[in-house]
Amino acid sequence: MSGWAEVADGVFQRRYDPLDISVCVVRGSDGLLVVDTRSSPRQADEIRTDLRALGPLPVTAVVNTHAHFDHSFGNQSFVGVPIYGHERVPAHLDAYERPMLAAWVARGEEPAEEWAEVVITPPTVLVGDHHRLLVGGRVVELLHLGRGHTDNDIVLHVPDASAWLVGDLVEESGPPMYGSGCFPLEWPGTCAELAGRLTASDVVVPGHGRPVDRSFVVGQQAELAQVASRIADLYAAGVPVEEARRAGGAWPLEQDGLDLAVAAGYAALDAGGEPQPSTSST
Ligand SMILES: [Zn+2]
Repeated sequence: MSGWAEVADGVFQRRYDPLDISVCVVRGSDGLLVVDTRSSPRQADEIRTDLRALGPLPVTAVVNTHAHFDHSFGNQSFVGVPIYGHERVPAHLDAYERPMLAAWVARGEEPAEEWAEVVITPPTVLVGDHHRLLVGGRVVELLHLGRGHTDNDIVLHVPDASAWLVGDLVEESGPPMYGSGCFPLEWPGTCAELAGRLTASDVVVPGHGRPVDRSFVVGQQAELAQVASRIADLYAAGVPVEEARRAGGAWPLEQDGLDLAVAAGYAALDAGGEPQPSTSST
């Protein structure tokens, strides 16, 4: 994992440890759009240093694909540059990331110095379900296709490069992550919405892992759908939430996050089902 890979025309991905997080860049004629900022200001400063390898152009915009810490805690290193994010990012930061960071700082979670430096910095430009950006004349579409990994996932479409930067709606180097603020019952529909917009030759860059294609997204959508239907079936059968994870044999995606997926799915069903995502455009 070293260096920038040009995954599509003028679209770059760099995979950083820890967490094999994707940082992407869309290079326009007069500036760079940076997608996601890693977990801390020092990690973001490393991005800024590494950007020199892409030429002398300034960073003219930043996008957070969603609010999770590994995608947004470096925002403060881009002060002065417009930072785009979905309109529900600030609420997610307040509900999940701020208390988590406070707990890490309080208990001295390593790397303690690095966490202590983080000043949670929400996006400065909040967008709805569709927003069109220009990066040196290149069109970049920001799309919220529905709830799933969170309620504030944005995918970026770069039409002139047939490229999609999809954050954690799709993961390649590990299974899709059911983390804080996830919507396991709606995620399959959102992923299907993404797959429906892809052509066979489009490049899809996940939030973690190597670039993939439509067939990979279709396969991951099927796994997400299996998890969602398993949760709904167990709920319908009256299996208590604390037993659901162990009931009914193997799960399609074996990972710790499934406990959270089950809990979130049950909570949504208790509340009368997860409402359909908004289709309004702003
Ligand atoms: Zn995430």
